[in-house]
Order: sequence, then structure tokens, then C-alpha cells
Amino acid sequence: MPAEDSLQILLHDASLPATLRQIALKVHNGERITFDEGVLLYEEAELGFLGVLANYIREKKHGDTTYFNRNFHIEPTNLCVYDCKFCSYSRLIKQRADGWEYTMDEMLDIVKKYDGEPVTEVHIVGGVLPQYDVPFYAELFRRIKAHRPNLHVKALTPVEYHYIFKKAKIDYATGMALMKDAGLESMPGGGAEIFHEEIRDHIAKDKCTANQWLQIHEEWHKLGMRSNATMLYGHIEKYWHRIDHMERLRQLQDKTGGFQTFIPLKFRNKDNQMSNVAEASVIEDLRNYAIARIYLDNFDHIKAYWAMISRNTAQLSLNFGVDDIDGTLDDTTKIYSMAGAEEQHPAMSTKELVELIKHVGRKPVERDTLYNVVTDYSNVEFAEEKKPQFYKLPVVN
Ligand code: SF4
Repeated sequence: MPAEDSLQILLHDASLPATLRQIALKVHNGERITFDEGVLLYEEAELGFLGVLANYIREKKHGDTTYFNRNFHIEPTNLCVYDCKFCSYSRLIKQRADGWEYTMDEMLDIVKKYDGEPVTEVHIVGGVLPQYDVPFYAELFRRIKAHRPNLHVKALTPVEYHYIFKKAKIDYATGMALMKDAGLESMPGGGAEIFHEEIRDHIAKDKCTANQWLQIHEEWHKLGMRSNATMLYGHIEKYWHRIDHMERLRQLQDKTGGFQTFIPLKFRNKDNQMSNVAEASVIEDLRNYAIARIYLDNFDHIKAYWAMISRNTAQLSLNFGVDDIDGTLDDTTKIYSMAGAEEQHPAMSTKELVELIKHVGRKPVERDTLYNVVTDYSNVEFAEEKKPQFYKLPVVN
């Protein structure tokens, strides 16, 4: 059924509470909902109601188009000077034996292994260690671009940038300009967690603050560059903390317009200091995608990481506001599997991902990092399955 028809049925439902009808009308009229209305959606709206609203917005913005991109990850290290309670990934320096620290040449070797592969982006993010500083990353970005000029470098979060700029005694504006000059082309959305101090101080107290995270993105946007934003949900935060988080993003987006995509990240409880905290249900995951789609009216895209929430939930999310699935991956990222995601060796070929999207009636479109269309797969027939390649990565203690 067309999204407009579903919304009309809902608006004519006499049993719908007036408060929710008001929100549905706002969505229909393209009006922004308030902070309190956002909280009300979390507290009172049923999944079906949220799905109708989120899908209406999704289809108005993108129709059936569902984006994905082909990238690979480099995680320079899983050692970290910080000790976020939710982190299943970092091994503190005292646990160095469990960790890896790639040298620059090893990272460039990873890049070279993808020579000839149709990837458009390298995504670089990992732990924070002193040797990975401004000169190191500037040289890494330069050497990657020198080797493969068309490979888009999406790298590091304000957590790393705050740390390395402070160490280099340079301000954020200078630092981000320097990174751009070295070849950085966009910033991923990590490190945002939950902005509100009540929660942030408890789960991630030493790394950059919410304001510092937002300031670094703002400086990056001022350079005319794009970035993403995340939210780690489903742990000790209350619903209003999630809306507070999205409100801060919505305000910065009004100011700069530099965000492309919002990515809700599900808290997973394996092997971290919050293992006693239960994980959100699939229903809660879908409600959260939908409310993000409704609340963040000035964000173009809502993305789901299939490797984090499973393939089936990712398929379902396409009816709850998500228009982007990340991505065709091999198992070069360990962040999700180490946190207890169902996918222990996340890998999906382009054919598999295209089929996953088509099976739920959506239109698969490969994009580059900036959402330029690379290939519309609506009518592409795959002659032969091309399996993703697995590369054994060195582990250096
Ligand atoms: S979440 Fe990031 S900053 Fe925090 S401990 Fe893990 S790797 Fe370090």
C-alpha cells in the first residue's frame, strides 16, 4: 500500500489519541515535531504507528531507493588510552598481549590488497594511542591518496581528533584544515554515544565531551565537508536522553547542514563492563529507527549496520525509516563481532546485499560516500557470484 494511503488510514482512526494524531498530522504536513513529542513517541507510540510515519518520510525523501556502498575498514589498533564501559573492543594498554597495533606500512598494505577491487571508500577508525598522532595520520592519509587517488578517505572521530589536536597543541579549526589538506574527505559518526552528561560521564567519561564532539564536526562542516552522526542506544539511558541527543544534532544540522546520515548503534553486552545490562529487543531497535527518522527531519539518511543488528532486522528496518544499509563488508572490522553481534565474520557480497534489499521490495543503489549513484541494481543480473575476499591481517603485539 502506498505510504500516503497508510498515513490517511491512520489519520482517520477514531481510536488514535489526540496527541499522536497531532504528531501524525505534523508528519503529513512536513512539520517538525517538538522535544516533548519525541519523548511521547518513545513512551506511547506503537510500532505500527511509528512505522507508518517513518515510512511516509522515507518514501517522500527516497522512494524505494536503498543505498549501500562498497568499502573496507582499517582499524589501526584495538588498544586505547580510554576505558569506555560499553566497549568490547578496546584492550587497555595493560592487556597489550590481546591487542594489535598496525604500523603505517601494514595499513598501506591493507589498502594495496584492495587494488583492482571495486571499493570506493576506506573507513579508518579504532582505538586511541599516543603514537597515532597528527603527523602519523596526516602522512597516512597522504600516502593512501597518493596510492589510490579515487579512494575516499573517511577517517577518525572527534574522539581521536580531540586527543591528537590537544597533544599537538593546535585548535580544532587548524587541525581539521590540516587533515583536509592531507587527504581526509569525510568523518564517520562514531564517538557520539549519548551526549547528555548524566549518561556520558558514566559510560565514557574521559574522552571528548558532547560539546567537543559537536564543535569538531562544526569545524569540519565549516570547511564545506560532510560527516555522519551516531547514537549508542539501549543501555542505561532514558528515552529523553535519546531525544536530547538527537535534538543537539538537529540544532547543529540547522546551523551547518553538514551531516549526511544518522546511524543508531545498538548497545551489545558481550565482554564489556556493562555485561549486566540487558540489550534492546528487535522491536525497540525498529521503534528507535522510526523515531530517529521522524525526529531528524533535517537529516537526509538513516543508516542501519546489518553486521550489528543482523540481516533480518536490517531488512525489516527498511520499512521503519532506514534508507541505507552499510554495506558490503568483508571481515576487516572487529568492532561488532567483539561486542557480541550475531555476525561473527561479517561478510556479504554485492549480490547478497542486492538480493536482501530486493526481497523486501526496495530498489538497491550503490552509492559513493557522498551519495552519488555508482550503480542502480534494479535490473542488474549477476552472471556469477563474486565472493568477498578475506585477507588475513597481521596482528602485532
Ligand atoms: S569506545 Fe573507543 S574511545 Fe572508548 S575505549 Fe573503546 S576504542 Fe577507546
